[in-house]
Formats: sequence, structure tokens, C-alpha cells
Amino acid sequence: MSHPALSADRTAVITGGASGIGLAAAMRFAERGMNVCIADIDEARLRDAAARLAAATKRGEAAVMTATVDVSSRDSVVALETAVRQRFGAIDVLMNNAGIQPGSRMLADDNWQRILGVNLWGIIHGAQVFAPGMIVQNKPALIINTGSKQGITTPPGDPAYNVSKAGVKAFTEALQHELRNTPGCQVTAHLFIPGFVFTPLTANGRVEKPAGAWTPEQTVDFMLERVAAGDFYVLCPDNDVPRALDERRILWAAGDIVENRPPLSRWHADYADAFAAFAKKSP
Ligand code: NAD
Repeated sequence: MSHPALSADRTAVITGGASGIGLAAAMRFAERGMNVCIADIDEARLRDAAARLAAATKRGEAAVMTATVDVSSRDSVVALETAVRQRFGAIDVLMNNAGIQPGSRMLADDNWQRILGVNLWGIIHGAQVFAPGMIVQNKPALIINTGSKQGITTPPGDPAYNVSKAGVKAFTEALQHELRNTPGCQVTAHLFIPGFVFTPLTANGRVEKPAGAWTPEQTVDFMLERVAAGDFYVLCPDNDVPRALDERRILWAAGDIVENRPPLSRWHADYADAFAAFAKKSP
């Protein structure tokens, strides 16, 4: 099963496409015979990734484009869209995936602007700049935004990242609502929610994949299967966390409001036993 936008000779643009999950997605698209544009801020990574991509596709370099882009800059994203249209014409898949996780503290402003600039504004820029042109193409197309479980259950430790990814969730939900209410629109939006994936973002000096993590390729294969099935929420498991446990964690987080518990009660000592019992129950 596949999605028509993911067919040979269609075009995909992947931000953060020079590494990790984005590069694995670009490889899968290239293997299907699609044109791919990887857009990234890191030029050295782009060069390496382009060579790997060209080797993975029958059409070689003719099917591969690289673009040095800072997704936190709207002008940079506008220039990207123009350049891809000039090179390949229609754009069938936009994967808004660039992301950073340098760490943040609640009561210090270090990294907050940068994290929100890349992780949230990058996705807003991508959708606002690319979607109008994708809609008027009048054929099926996909916008896949990479969120995070940290934007849903918002665990303590990295508040700026959580805020950015909670924004990605809210933005992508509203985007899909807008697209499905746009007459004749064949573009759909999807919230891609990876689990723990071994990439440079999460490596922390490790060279071996931790047992609990999925590979980027596993994660992308899961995403492609679920998008083809029509899922909006592409909630990926990993080797530590099965879907059933994610579901309990998400329900518990929503339950903080419904049950009038303190926020983040999952990490509150008074609720430790109650959460542990809740997490064990099947839905
Ligand atoms: P990665 O570091 O391997 O790849 C991210 C890429 O984004 C890098 O190539 C980087 O150069 C690029 N980038 C950073 N800032 C940019 C900017 N301003 N403009 C353009 N490109 C920029 O990380 P990854 O793990 O593959 O992450 C991809 C996405 O998946 C991110 O949005 C991340 O938050 C999300 N995610 C990752 C995990 C995980 O466990 N790895 C889990 C959940 C969500």
C-alpha cells in the first residue's frame, strides 16, 4: 500500500534532510524513484547526504537537489520553495522535519528563541509557504510535520523543546482542519510522532544504537505505512515503549485536567502509585 504522492517521478522536500530521520525519509523517497530536495542548515552533512542519495536512485544526481536553508527564516523557506519549483516543478510531499534539542531551562532564556525558531516557526514557515502552491496543483499531496511525544505528554527537563513540539501538534491539527475544509483540496497534513530514534540528535556521544531505540529507517517505514493508511497521528513505538503504554501516558496527561490533578502529575510523588497502576491497565 502506498500514497499517490509517494510515486515515482513525484517530488519530496525534506527539511532537516541531511541527517537522521530526514535523511532516512529522503532515501526511501529516492528508492521509490522520486525527486528529492534535502534542505538543511549543515552544508557538510548536505554534501555527504547528496552523494548517498544519488547512489540510491537510478537517476542519480538528476533526482537529487540540496538546499542550504535555515527554516527559522521565512525568507530562506520562500527561496527554497522557489528553487524547488524551478528545478522539479510540482511539489508533492513536504516533510517539515528540521529540529534541534540543545536543552533548555525554565527560568533562563538560553536557547528558547532558537528552539522555537527552528522547531515551531520552521514548521509554520514550511506550511504557509508551500501549502498554497501544493493546493492549486490539484493532485494528492502530503505535508508531514515532525512532532514529538514530548509535545503531548510534556515531561519535565526540556521545557522549550516541549513548548515547541506542543505548538507543532496544535499547528498541524489546525492545518489539517483547514485543508479538509478547503473545497477541492487534495493536500493532507499529518503529525509524525517518532519514539526514541537513534540519530545525531539523541546520540549523546554513543556510537551504538541503544537497545530501546529504533533506527531512523524503521521509524520512516512505519511512518510511510501509516500515512498510506490515512492516519493523521502517526504515533511510533520504539523498542521500550509499545503503543499501549503511549496511549496510557497520553490519557493520563489529558486526565490531569479532567480529574483536576496538578500538572505533570505523572512526575509528582503523590501520584506515583496511581499512575503506575493506571499505566498497567489496558485501555
Ligand atoms: P538530526 O539532528 O539527525 O537531524 C536534524 C537535522 O535538522 C540536522 O541535519 C540539522 O542540521 C537540521 N537542522 C537544524 N537546524 C536547522 C535549521 N534551522 N534549518 C534547517 N535544518 C536544520 O535529528 P533527528 O533525530 O533526525 O530529528 C529529526 C526530527 O525528529 C526533529 O524535528 C526532532 O525533534 C524529531 N524527533 C526526533 C526524535 C529522536 O528520538 N531522534 C524523537 C522525536 C522527535
